[in-house]
Amino acid sequence: MKYITLVLLGLSLVISCKVKEENKEVHSNPKLVVGIVVDQMRYDYLTRFYNKYGDGGFKRMIDEGFNCKNNHFNYIPTYTGPGHASIYTGTTPKYHGIISNGWYDKDIKQDVYCAGDTSVRSVGTNDRSGQMSPHRLKTTTLADENRLFTQMRGKTIGISIKDRGAILPAGHSANAAYWFQGKDEGNWISSTYYMDDLPQWVKDFNAEHSVSKYLREWNTLYDIETYTESGNDLNDFEGGFRGKETATFPYQLDVLKDSNGGYDLLKATAYGNSLTTDFTIAALKGEGLGKDTITDVLAVSFSSPDYVGHNFGVNSKEIEDTYIRLDKDLERFFVVLDEQVGKNNYTVFLTADHAAVNVPAYLQSVKIPAGYLDNAKTRIKFNAFMEQTFKASDLVENVSNNQIFLNRDKVKAMGLKLEDIQEAIVNELIAYDHVDKVYSATTLSTTEFVTGIEALLQKGYNQKRSGDVLVVTDPGYISYPKTGSTHGSGFSYDTHVPLLFFGKGIIHGETIKKTEITDIAPTISSLLGISFPNATTGQPLDFVLE
Ligand code: ZN
Ligand code: ZN
Ligand code: ZN
Repeated sequence: MKYITLVLLGLSLVISCKVKEENKEVHSNPKLVVGIVVDQMRYDYLTRFYNKYGDGGFKRMIDEGFNCKNNHFNYIPTYTGPGHASIYTGTTPKYHGIISNGWYDKDIKQDVYCAGDTSVRSVGTNDRSGQMSPHRLKTTTLADENRLFTQMRGKTIGISIKDRGAILPAGHSANAAYWFQGKDEGNWISSTYYMDDLPQWVKDFNAEHSVSKYLREWNTLYDIETYTESGNDLNDFEGGFRGKETATFPYQLDVLKDSNGGYDLLKATAYGNSLTTDFTIAALKGEGLGKDTITDVLAVSFSSPDYVGHNFGVNSKEIEDTYIRLDKDLERFFVVLDEQVGKNNYTVFLTADHAAVNVPAYLQSVKIPAGYLDNAKTRIKFNAFMEQTFKASDLVENVSNNQIFLNRDKVKAMGLKLEDIQEAIVNELIAYDHVDKVYSATTLSTTEFVTGIEALLQKGYNQKRSGDVLVVTDPGYISYPKTGSTHGSGFSYDTHVPLLFFGKGIIHGETIKKTEITDIAPTISSLLGISFPNATTGQPLDFVLE
């Protein structure tokens, strides 16, 4: 009797182990999560250039994966630093603290850069451009949570031409972040925050100096006559490069190099994406990412579309060609992922850190309300108001990122009430041309806004770091030269960006239901079964997951 029971018990143990093993098989995590950010990619670049794309890049993600067509940033300002931080932390500047690319630090009374860190040293260059770390990011990223979950066995690598595009996504516990040093170097570099010396595969990559091969002619990939989805190549709305009369194809990059910052020139061409892809593939192989069952995170950001957009504008032939070529680079990258990690062993998401406005001068030419702010005129008028009202010229300490920082010591010394000055400034500025809304820090800290621009402003407002008065300008109005595009507002031309998921654990489908940028991190965290980043405010998009 005892013997039979033991046999049965043993049998049931064997069975339950089998079942467990089968379950484990079904629920296994992707070996690699690849996050792709395309700097300044508008949602309509997916649709406008759709017929120009091949089957293996953007279309492969759409055809096999899930397309969130109505995905938006949910805070102001829509800049690169806050964008990358929000994608990977699942929250907004209110919590992660990256309120802009650079801002006025009220405590030390100095301008600071979001990734700047003078306590670390450059690795791979003697230039100071390596003195970077994520120390100003206050919360964890999804890559940090994966590191904690895997007992630091899952790797994290961040890659981008821009330092902040590599550093903020990779988070605090990353194995490495790499960014591009242009000028006369053309190398990938890092900082002592991550390592004392570059790994051999990075040294080898830099030694090969394959970057030089991109110093060649940049012409359109296909006949320019077929680029019917963008404006004339020659127009009044493009910047261009020093040393070339017109902003028109073709561009001889070897000739233009010396008058345009050396290797920095490549950043502002379609080849910057190819260069980033080359290095990302080298990282995949060099670090052995996705080789075992412990999930690794590879965060790559393509910075060049932002430089091209700022220079040539969102309606240019240069932008169209940049995206047609980026599509080819993505295809090349996905083929390597299939080979190195294996189809259905990896999960990819693709989004942008913000979109961009059409060149206001172009919009004006087709009768759409848009324009440029006259900051010099505004400053004179505003200073006169402050003099007259408060009999003091130094009550304002700094004006940056559409925010006014008051000199709090001075306010106290003069026996004034901070709230009164804020309110007076609000009432003054709202009367100015092309100022659409003005809010005081006091209002943003005491009233909860649920919808509209006010809610976006509030989610971007950080009580410790933001200013005393926040200004929102009219749609289509920017502080910028009259050529090229920029971004930063809460209007849909800046907030509407692609969101594509594909690979392991993702179903095929699409939605026009609104999703928000802060939903990405909790969605990937849910897929992996790991903790959400520690200040997540987004919601997991359950409908994209198997
Ligand atoms: Zn950006
Ligand atoms: Zn052009
Ligand atoms: Zn930009």
